[in-house]
Parts: sequence; structure tokens; C-alpha cells
Amino acid sequence: MEYKFKLLKIHCAGCALALEQKINEIPDVVAEINFVTKLIKLNITSDCPAETLTEVKKTISKFDHQIEIADYVDTVEISEKERKSREKNIIKLSVAFVLLIVNFFMPVFWIQICIYVFLYLLVSYRVLFSAARNILHGKIFDETFLMVIASIGAFVIGEYTEAVAVMLLYSVGEILEDVAVGKSRKTIESLLEIKQPYANYFDGESETKVSLGELSVGDLIRIKPGERVPLDCEIIEGTSYLDMSALTGETKEVIVKAGDHILSGSINGSSALLCKVEKCEKESTVSRIVDMVQKASETKAKTEKFISRFSRIYTPVVIALAVIIAFIPPIFSGYSNFSTYAYRALCFLVVSCPCALVISVPLTYFASIGSFARAGIMVKGANFIEALAKTNAVVFDKTGTLTKGNFEVAEIVPIGEHTKEELLETAAYAESFSNHRIAKSIVESYLEQSEGKQINQAWINDYTEFAGKGIKASIFMQETLIGNAKLLKEYGVKFYEVNRTGTVLYVAVSGKFAGYIVIEDKIKEDSLNAIRNLKALKITDISLCTGDTENVATTVSSKLGIKKPYFGLLPEDKVAIITEKTSSGKTVAFVGDGINDAPSLASASVGISMGNLGSDIAVEASDLVLMTDEPSKVAYAIKKAKRTKRIALQNIIGSIGIKVAILILIAFGFSGMWLAVFADVGVNLLAVLNSLRAMLK
Ligand code: ADP
Ligand code: MG
Repeated sequence: MEYKFKLLKIHCAGCALALEQKINEIPDVVAEINFVTKLIKLNITSDCPAETLTEVKKTISKFDHQIEIADYVDTVEISEKERKSREKNIIKLSVAFVLLIVNFFMPVFWIQICIYVFLYLLVSYRVLFSAARNILHGKIFDETFLMVIASIGAFVIGEYTEAVAVMLLYSVGEILEDVAVGKSRKTIESLLEIKQPYANYFDGESETKVSLGELSVGDLIRIKPGERVPLDCEIIEGTSYLDMSALTGETKEVIVKAGDHILSGSINGSSALLCKVEKCEKESTVSRIVDMVQKASETKAKTEKFISRFSRIYTPVVIALAVIIAFIPPIFSGYSNFSTYAYRALCFLVVSCPCALVISVPLTYFASIGSFARAGIMVKGANFIEALAKTNAVVFDKTGTLTKGNFEVAEIVPIGEHTKEELLETAAYAESFSNHRIAKSIVESYLEQSEGKQINQAWINDYTEFAGKGIKASIFMQETLIGNAKLLKEYGVKFYEVNRTGTVLYVAVSGKFAGYIVIEDKIKEDSLNAIRNLKALKITDISLCTGDTENVATTVSSKLGIKKPYFGLLPEDKVAIITEKTSSGKTVAFVGDGINDAPSLASASVGISMGNLGSDIAVEASDLVLMTDEPSKVAYAIKKAKRTKRIALQNIIGSIGIKVAILILIAFGFSGMWLAVFADVGVNLLAVLNSLRAMLK
């Protein structure tokens, strides 16, 4: 059983990590806590999950009774209460800061000491309490406890100002961090506020405002100008402009009219539309996007996992070093300078929290996922951003990916007793159940010429579609084949192959060759850019994979500057090409439109599907979904992923580097507690701010 909750009032990343560890000690429980989203995911495998869940809750409240477990909701808003207490805290700390400076010049020594003690208690009573509680629970590596030891230690050896300053800065740092993380979380969540919570239900006479859950497929709704489309639907009446930017990341308005299918999340621009609901709330595009982004922030990247492991050893190691510094060097000098070394050891304790890492790396990926979403690219997990950053081979599908997929019929050549019209009619009937772009184009061109005649699907029986080959069906009671040469050969039909530009669809009726239809596709304007931009990223292994003929494949690839086209492939052959590349150590991205390509999407290191948000299979099988039809978004995504990775690395190297450098300075007496606090709080803040850069375009 999987459970999800929100953990409220959990304030430090280090604690989240410790809590996670603690919960994982409970048998049959695997817990994952994401400090940034405040999400706790529990996988409970015991026989009685309810009981185990109670135990988990107990463990959490024992760990820190302030932490609240709340139901999993889409957003975390800081409460009014929390905001007020934060404001009070800021005032308190500012007053303390001023007093601390004034007190520094206090001429009467005992008054000065009293004020120091007062300030210390004022600033740190909360930390003191929580540290005391932690000791009772045996948590000695806890950040608060270490800060308390460090500051009290400083008091004891007479470093009063520093003792207060440590706590003061620590508290200021916590607040700033809270604000920064909260802000980023909010920004990202606002990106996802594309869901309109209500719809105007129309019962034929009047309108009523209803919640989305109350509507079912087939209901009529009215969408007013300025409103978002609440559910995926079909327009019955009206013409308007739609702003799709929330879905595609592009501020391009599209004109829509009766009969068009529109996606939820877009904004209705100019006039009211009457629409018929086509998908219920859960299945509508908006819910799926919000879902996907939420799930994405649950999947951790490898770097994040590394950081968790590293943090677990970092703190004990620094504490061990502190003990060594406090006790070993003084032995050699006969304990005359014990307090010097004790001071250095205390400084070590201040630097011992791995918070900067624990928080900044997940935050980087979280911010990046949000920013991808804003650009119309849905990433299914931080791990795919990593894979994308490493990508050094890209395999493109042809039809619908590099080409438009809107085929035009160039030539109809009937053989034997059939006429051109009959051949096209037979073809359209055979294709009428298929989702393939070829099928859609054939049906469309038949309907254009048929003078109002519709396809009567009662005349179609025994329908089978062969991916990468074509279709077999019984049309008007006659076995009909339509597809490429492979298909007809397989059925032993005698025919001749036609060699010309364009895709040739051979038709056979009752085992006899009945003619062929030549269809032509156009390359997308954006495809040239797509290839060029990939090459600019130094990705040279770019290939084209298609089930189409050599003729078509080479024409497309030479126009786009792709060196090596693979042609005549069945879906499984495409998979073989991808696995061959991956097994030679490459990180392969496969880009397809999702039709016929699910196996390839799944077997590539990163499966990218495009322009097909409506198709469940495509979205399911891919790791990245491009909302628009532009293949150039692939290069854009890779570039962005690389940047994300770079920022995460900067945070890791930066914060470890600064901490180690300061530890060395402290060890040799070149630095005091001030710098130590900076290494703790300052580095933390810098890292958080740096992670937010991943949110930029
Ligand atoms: P691509 O690899 O270019 O995306 P597919 O693998 O989907 O193409 O299809 C390969 C070939 O198989 C097509 O060029 C066409 O000749 C044939 N084919 C596939 N599906 C159909 C269909 N529904 N109707 C007719 N022919 C089809
Ligand atoms: Mg295809």
C-alpha cells in the first residue's frame, strides 16, 4: 500500500533526512521524504497497514511533536498563524541584534554578562527546547543540539558575543531559508494553477455553476471569455480565440470553431463557447499535467540519492574530527591551551550540518521540473533530467515527428476493374478505425471528395492493424489489405513494386492486387532547426528511423542533414536499433509521435513523445512529453537539463568545498565562529538561491 501525506512544520532539511531514516527502521515500511514539497511517501508492505501507519505517525510525533501530518493536497500554503509568528520572530531578532551591538560597548562587566545571557535566552529559547527534546529522544547528531553545544561552549570559554551571534545568525538563516524555499515552492505551484475549479453547466435553458466532479461526458457547458477551459471538450457552438500558452509554453493564439476539440487549461479569448464535455475531471489534460508534475517531483535523481547518503556520513565525521581537535593537540602541549582547541572544536560543530546540500539539490530539480512545465515540456521525474543531460545519441521517428504527418494523396492508380473513386473508398473504409496519421489523411481526403457520403462502419469486419505494415479488414464482405510491400508479400499477393518519391500504399482485394495510392508528406519547418540545434550541442549521433521505404527515408534525411537513415523497419526493429546503441554505452533519446512507437519510447534511455497529449499510450510510455509538435524542443530540453545538472553540481561542489575550506581554516586557527556560521547558514542560502536559477528560462 502506498500512502502520501504532507508534513507541516518540518523546518530543517537535516531533520527530514533523520526522520526518514527513523521511519525506515520500522519493519515493512519504506519512507521517502521530500523536504521541498513537504511530501512523505510511505510504502507499507505489512499485513496490517493501518496498524503500521499508526506506528509511523507515532514515530513522527515522538521525533518532533511539532510536526503535523496532513492529508495530501495539491498545494501547501503557509498559514496566517505561521506568517504572524515569523513576523514576530523577525522583530525579536532585530531587537536582539541592536542590543548585542550596544552591549559590546557596555563598560560594566557584570551588567554586560547579564545582558548577554538575556539575549542568548531570548534568541535561542526555542532552539534550546527542541534540543532538549532531541536529547531525550537520543538524537545527538541533530542540528539544533549541535548549535546549542557550540554556543554554550563559547559562553563557557568566554566568547560571549560569538555565542549570541551564532544563535542569532542561525535563526536569521532559518527564516531566510524558509522564505526562499517557500517562495520557490509557490512560484512553481502557481505555474500549475491552470485548473479552473468550476464550470458553467448548461441544461438547455439556463446555466448553473458546478464543480468539475459533478460533470460527466456528454454534458453541455458554457465557457465565457476570459475563463479557462475546465475540461477537455468539443465545441458545439461559437467561434473564439484560445490562448494555449499554459499548455504549450507558447503565446500563440489559435482560432477555434464548432466541431473543434479543445484541451482544458487553455484560456478562452474573445467570445462564449458552448461545448460538450469529452473527458471527465480526472482524465482531462489539466489534471494529467498537474498529476505528472507532482509525480515528477517524487522521483529522485541519482544526485539526490548520493547527497542523502553523503549527508549521513558527513555529520558524524565532522563531529569525530571536532572531538579529535579538542582532545588530541592539547595532549602535546600539556593542556595549557585547551580552550583554544576547545573553541576550534566548537566551531567545527557549527559547520557540521549538511543542510545546504540536503535542501539545494532537490530544490534545483524541483525548480527545473516546474520550469520545464512552463515551457510546455512535461518531465516525468528528476532522474530523466539527468539522463537527458547525458544524452549523446538521438533517434527520430519520421512520420509525424520530423514530417507533418498530414499526407496528401498525390496519385491513385487502380488496377483491374476498380475505378479511382472505388479504390479510395475501399482504402478509407479499411483505414477508418486506425489512429495512424496515414489513416487519418486517407479518410480525410475520401470525405473531401465523397460529396457528403459518410463511412458506414457496419461494412467493416475482422479488422486487424499491423504496426509498421498496414491493415487487413473485411470491407463490403471482401478481404482487403492496405499497407506497404511487406504486408502484401506476407499474404502472397502478386503485385509489382512502384519506385517513386512518396509513400506508396498497396491495396489488395480478395487476394488480388487492386492498385496503389501514393501519398506525400511534408517536412516540418522546425525539423531543420531541431537537427541543427542538436549538432550545436555537439550531439553527432543523430538518426532517422522509419517503417517507410528507402526512397522516402533518404529524401528526408538528406534534406535535414541526418547522415544515417534506417528504413523499412517494424516497431521491434526500431527497438533493436535503440538497444544496440544503449548497450554500446550511449544514452539514447528516442523522439516519436507516440503512434506505433510505444516500445521504442519505453526502451530508450529517455523516451520523448510530442504533440500528442491526448494519447494515453504515448504519454504513458514516454519519459518526456512535448506539448507542441516542434522537434526543436528536444535540443532545448537537453540544453536545459544540462544547465540543471550544472547548477546541482555547483551546489554540491560549492557547499562541500566552502565547508571543507572553512573547516581547514578553523582547524589551524585562522577562522573563528563567525566564519563557521557563514559556512553553515550563508552557504545554505547561497545554495538555495543558486537552485532557484533552474527556474529561469
Ligand atoms: P514511421 O516509422 O515512419 O512512423 P510506421 O512504422 O508507423 O511509420 O509505418 C511504416 C509503414 O507501414 C508506413 O510507411 C506504411 O507504409 C505502413 N503502414 C503503417 N500503418 C499503416 C496504416 N494504418 N495504413 C497503411 N499503411 C500503414
Ligand atoms: Mg510513427
